[in-house]
Amino acid sequence: MAEAGIDALLVGPGADLRYLVDHEAPPLERLTLLILPADGPGTLVLPQLEAPLAEHAAEHVELLPWGEVEDPVALVVDRLAAAGADRGSLAVQDRLWTMFTLSLQAALPSAGWVPGSRVLGELRLRKGPDEIAALHAAGAAIDRVHARVPELLRPGRTEREVAADLDALIREEHDVTNFVIVGSGPNGASPHHEAGDRRLEAGDAVVVDIGGTLAGYCSDMTRDYAVIHMPEGYERLHAVLEHAQQAAVEAVAPGVPAEQIDAVARRIIEDAGYGEQFIHRTGHGIGIEEHEEPWIVAGNRRPLEPGMAFSVEPGIYVPGRYGSRIEDIVVVTDDGVQRCNHRPREVVVCR
Ligand code: ZN
Ligand code: ZN
Ligand code: ZN
Repeated sequence: MAEAGIDALLVGPGADLRYLVDHEAPPLERLTLLILPADGPGTLVLPQLEAPLAEHAAEHVELLPWGEVEDPVALVVDRLAAAGADRGSLAVQDRLWTMFTLSLQAALPSAGWVPGSRVLGELRLRKGPDEIAALHAAGAAIDRVHARVPELLRPGRTEREVAADLDALIREEHDVTNFVIVGSGPNGASPHHEAGDRRLEAGDAVVVDIGGTLAGYCSDMTRDYAVIHMPEGYERLHAVLEHAQQAAVEAVAPGVPAEQIDAVARRIIEDAGYGEQFIHRTGHGIGIEEHEEPWIVAGNRRPLEPGMAFSVEPGIYVPGRYGSRIEDIVVVTDDGVQRCNHRPREVVVCR
């Protein structure tokens, strides 16, 4: 913060707060705000009725509970003034609700405002050894769920039934399910498809993209399946995708620009004639959130560093017919890359 010229960091409920002080605050209309001056102790302003939830936070910062009829913004202003930061540069968490940001801005007219990600993004995108171990554990957990997908894909079952089973299997292996995407047949061409009432048919390709949180860290893994047999053209398309994903993973190493990983996958898919059908970036960082920095996308020239963790998930989508995506989480090591997911990447035909 001192290097970035930031006098205080303001963080409300969400992943950043969990990361900094291990507090899971309900995102509600009463203000919860961590005030972290560049030097000096931190304070967690929170509703009095939620103070009992903040025992972990109390190990890291002072708790400053506010009573039901007090003005919490006035408390924040006082604390910032005491730290000499009320006219300084304030970094506010990117996802703090607008209602809070606007009240803070009105009460602190002389302060300057910058996005909190300027500090927190840098902290969170390099994972330490414990975090990497947690990502590997989450990766192994979701590998075990994918191993059981073939039992679930039968003609006549709806996507929603399959998704409900997957939700239960993910919770067997994780603390919570974060999302379940089951895109069968033409629905697979919508990368973030919500499972619906479509019934599986013989000859469907099915994109299964699932993730959960285990001990605070996320899993996220996609594999492609076929019901009874593959649809026409799918085997060739998938061979291209496997090649692209493998080459992109092999390209990961410290010092390589993030966009290079995207370029490697994209080149192979373009050369095979599917370039127009690869409609998203190649990957996203992952950690305590499913999507965080670094973004694996054209234009991100930032060199990869040991400890960065992200998905490599190229996809090819053919509207009206089917989609395909292969996704593994990888971690940059001192001299290369490690995958967190190890299931085979070819299409599993479920008979
Ligand atoms: Zn996605
Ligand atoms: Zn995914
Ligand atoms: Zn992903």
